[in-house]
Amino acid sequence: MPLQPPSPLRDDVKERVREAIDIVDVVGSYISLRRQGKAMTGLCPWHDDGRPSLQVNPDRQTYRCWVCDIGGDVFSFVMRMEKVEFREALEQLADRAGIELPRGRGGPPVDDKATLRTVQAWAAERFRDCLRSAPEASAARDYLRSRGLSPATIDRFQIGFAPQSWDWLLRQSVAAGIGRDDLVKAGLVIERDDRSGHYDRFRGRVMFPIRDPQGRCVAFGGRVLPGDRPDSAKYINSPETPLFSKSSMLYGLDTAREAMAASRRAVVVEGYTDCLAARQAGIDDVVAVLGTALGERHAKLLRRYADRIVLVLDGDDAGRRRANEVLEVLLAEPIDVRIARMPSGVDPCDLILEQGRDAFEALVAEACDPLDYRMDEVLAGLAADAGDDAALASVESVLKALAAAASRSSLAGSQARLREDQVLGRLARRFGLSRDVLRTRMLELRGNAAAPAIASDPDHVRPARLPAWDREVLEVLVGVPDSVGLIIREVTPADVETPACRAVIETAGRLHASGRSVALADLLLELVDPVLQSLLVAVDESGAARGSLDPEERVGHFTEALRRRVAERQAHVAARALKTNRLDSRSEAEILERLLAERRAAQGMPDGVAPCSVQAASEPKEG
Ligand SMILES: [Zn+2]
Repeated sequence: MPLQPPSPLRDDVKERVREAIDIVDVVGSYISLRRQGKAMTGLCPWHDDGRPSLQVNPDRQTYRCWVCDIGGDVFSFVMRMEKVEFREALEQLADRAGIELPRGRGGPPVDDKATLRTVQAWAAERFRDCLRSAPEASAARDYLRSRGLSPATIDRFQIGFAPQSWDWLLRQSVAAGIGRDDLVKAGLVIERDDRSGHYDRFRGRVMFPIRDPQGRCVAFGGRVLPGDRPDSAKYINSPETPLFSKSSMLYGLDTAREAMAASRRAVVVEGYTDCLAARQAGIDDVVAVLGTALGERHAKLLRRYADRIVLVLDGDDAGRRRANEVLEVLLAEPIDVRIARMPSGVDPCDLILEQGRDAFEALVAEACDPLDYRMDEVLAGLAADAGDDAALASVESVLKALAAAASRSSLAGSQARLREDQVLGRLARRFGLSRDVLRTRMLELRGNAAAPAIASDPDHVRPARLPAWDREVLEVLVGVPDSVGLIIREVTPADVETPACRAVIETAGRLHASGRSVALADLLLELVDPVLQSLLVAVDESGAARGSLDPEERVGHFTEALRRRVAERQAHVAARALKTNRLDSRSEAEILERLLAERRAAQGMPDGVAPCSVQAASEPKEG
C-alpha cells in the first residue's frame, strides 16, 4: 500500500476548528478571566500565581503568561491544560465546535481518553434512564425524594441508579458494542480474581456523575440506599483513571465556576447531596469533595475562581478530625480559608431542607479563621488540670499552625503581623508565657517549615532568548505577514542564528509555497512545538508593544536593515580576501573599490562620499 500523503482535508479541518472557536471561551472554561483593557487576564494555571499573570489576547487569539514566559494558540492551551497531544486537543475543540473530524483508516489511533469519556457518558445515561423509570429503582427515587431533591435537580445533575445486579451494565455494554477492556479502564466493571469473568463495580447504588470542569462525565460516586447492605461502604467512587483524580477534582465544579467567579467565594461541603441541596436552594458557589479531605491541589484549583474557601464540616468528632487533617495544608495556601462547623448531628442537606437557605448562609458567614479554630480546639481539649507537657504540646501545635499560616499568607505583611500578635497574645495570657518566647519559637518553626515551594514543572519550557536579528526577522514576519515573500527570498537559513528562528522561517516558506496564508494563527497552527509557540506569541507581543510603525514603514525599515547586513557581509568577505590572499595589483584595486562601495552602502551613504573610517583589516586610505 502506498503511503498516504498528508491530507489537505485535515489542514482544512484544523482551520475550521480554529475559526469556530474563541480562545476566550476556551480559556474561560478553565480559569476565570477578567477584562483588563483589550486583554482578558486570569490566574496562570501553570505557576503559583498570586496575581493574574495569564493574558488572553482576543484579537490575536493567543494566550501568554509573562511569568512562565509561555504562550500559544487555543490548541496549545488545551494541550498544556489537559496534558494531551495535538490530535486530542483538536478532537476536543472540534467536538466543542460541532465539527466532525474525518477518521480515515490511516488516521492516528483513537485516543484513550476520548474513548473513556464516551464510555462514561454512555454509562451515565444508562444509570439515569434506570432511575427515571425502572421498577427496581423505586427505592432510590424514594430516597432522593426524602432528601428533598426535586426532579429538576435530579435531572440537572444527571443522577442515576445502578440496580442490585452483578452484570446489569455488562449486559447492556454488549448490545451497545462497548468493549470489555474499555469498561474496565473506565472503572465501571472489575475482573474477577480468578479471571473467570467480570462484574459491575456499582450495584444497588444511587449514582452521582462526577464531571470535569468542562462538564464531561469522568467518574461516578455511588451511594448505597439507607438500610441497604449495612456492611458495605456508604459511598464508593470510581477508581483513579487517566480522566479522574479525586485529589484534584471537586463535585459540581463545572456548574459552580461562574458563581464562584462572581462571589469570589467557594463553599466546600462533604457530601454530594449536601452540594445538590445547596444548589437547589439557589446557592451556586458550592462544591463537594470526593470522599477525601480538601487538599492542596483542591485549594490551588479553587484559587482560580475564588479568593476565599469556606469549608463546611460536620459538628461531630469525624468533622473535628477532618478539620485537623486539612488545617495545615490549607493554612499553607495563599488563600483565605474559613471553617464552618455544622451543629452536631445535622448535615448541610438537612439544614437547608429544614431551615432554608438563609440558615445555611448564616452558618457560612460565621465561619471562623482556621487559627482561631485551632486555638479553640486546643484550649477546649486541654483539661483544666493538664500537666506541663500537655500544655506545652498544645502551645506547640498552635504555634506550628501559625508558622505555616504566616509563611504564605494572603494577608499583607502588616496585617499578617497583627494577626500573629493576636494569637500570640492569646496564647501568652492563657498559658502565662512571655510573648517574646512564643514569637521566637514560632519563628524557629517557620524556619523549618520554609521548604522550597517552587515546583519544577517539566512542562515549563522557556523559549530561547533570541539574538536581535532573529527577533527582528520574526517580529516582521509575525507583524506583517505580507512580508513573507521578502523574508523567504532574502533571509537564508544561514542568516539567522537560532534553530527556532530557522524552523519558523522554513515553516513560513512551506505555507507560502503551498499558497496558504502566513498569519500568526496559521504559523501557530503549523508549529505545535510549545517552545516555538511561546516564542511566536512573545515576539508578536513585543513587536506590537514597540510598533508605532504602519506595516509599510515596518517592511521599509526591515528592507533597509537587510541591505545593510548584506553589504556588511560582503565587505567582511572582501576585507578577509584582501588580508589573506596574495592578489595582483589589479584585483586588489578592484576589491578595494568594491569594499569601499559596500561600506558606503552598509552605512547608508550615497556613492561617492567616503566613510569616515573603514575598519577593514588593511585600512586603505583614499586619495
Ligand atoms: Zn504562569
